[in-house]
Amino acid sequence: MSLPRDLYVGFTGSPLDRAEPARHDAGALAALAGNPAALLLDMPDYLPPTIDGALDWKPLPPLPAEELLLLGLIDGIPRFARIDPEAVAAKRWAELMTVLDNLSLGEAGTYAAARSVLDWHARHRFCANCGAKTAPHHAGWARLCLRCGTEHYPRTDPVVIMLAEYEGRVLIGRQPGFAPGRYSALAGFVEVGESIEEAVARELREEAGVIATAVRYVASQPWPFPSQLMIACIADVADDSVTLDMAELEDAKWVDRAEVETSLRGDEGAVFGAPPRYAIANSLFRAWLAGR
Ligand SMILES: [Zn+2]
Repeated sequence: MSLPRDLYVGFTGSPLDRAEPARHDAGALAALAGNPAALLLDMPDYLPPTIDGALDWKPLPPLPAEELLLLGLIDGIPRFARIDPEAVAAKRWAELMTVLDNLSLGEAGTYAAARSVLDWHARHRFCANCGAKTAPHHAGWARLCLRCGTEHYPRTDPVVIMLAEYEGRVLIGRQPGFAPGRYSALAGFVEVGESIEEAVARELREEAGVIATAVRYVASQPWPFPSQLMIACIADVADDSVTLDMAELEDAKWVDRAEVETSLRGDEGAVFGAPPRYAIANSLFRAWLAGR
């Protein structure tokens, strides 16, 4: 882990040892599943089962091999989730946000991995190559087409999220669906054929009409709704004139350090409502204040 210890990045820091070799070794997988200490993170509704702010693991019941998702080992104990063959794709419930506020950083990271993989299984029952049915493979970390033999792997979609910086201020924006008063860093999916730096520059130009002259990487985060990799950056820009794409943003404004500090603290009279602490936009604001 190369993250600065004082930079909190949501959904990172899981203590999982992913035990990758066991995914390709049926004997090793059976031994882990047959371990009487093996535990299950049971979440048929994709919500994390919790007890006292931690994940609530249950003894692993006997399950068919094709329903086993081997998450890995924690404290040397095998950890599994169940791939429900009838599951439907996850929705994002409002109550999940409250649950996440009460989970520790590493626990939320373990949950994020399990949720993204289970949700991917529910969305990928058929082969993108030939259309036939697929089945879980490699201890739940792949699916195998039962007709053409193509292997499919859980997807991770890269998204850049960035602060444009100009003369001691950063640009924040507001999407139409945000809670009242909420502003955040600008963001967008990395497109095929683009580098991270090029995606940052393109999104800033498209959404706000600002021209990036330099881009620096700050941190990244797995985001399990459903499976993005958020890549946080800060971009120097040529000037502070803004031309909004109203289809993407309903407002944007430049804020200085004091305004970001009061917003992160949630002070009365703060000029904007900051993103929640498990969102990497929150970490990005903190990194900027820390001079990174
Ligand atoms: Zn196929």
